[in-house]
Amino acid sequence: MVAVRSCIGCGVRVSRSELLRVVERDGHVVIDEKAVLSGRGAWVHPDRACIERTIARGGFPRALRVSGRLDTSELENRLEK
Ligand SMILES: [Zn+2]
Repeated sequence: MVAVRSCIGCGVRVSRSELLRVVERDGHVVIDEKAVLSGRGAWVHPDRACIERTIARGGFPRALRVSGRLDTSELENRLEK
């Protein structure tokens, strides 16, 4: 059975291997490369459109059940590579 997750940017359900898992740590959105970190995770396509859309809509705090803003610089830096 393939584990399927929804991208929080576009809502499409795909195999989790196609998505990036992120978690919240001390007010930052942290990329969980190996999908091993504890706590609530959110899944997003590793591309600019989905990540920017999620940031614009406040999707990370909502998906991670955090109130207020989260620092997404780690994700944004990744997009620049
Ligand atoms: Zn997406």
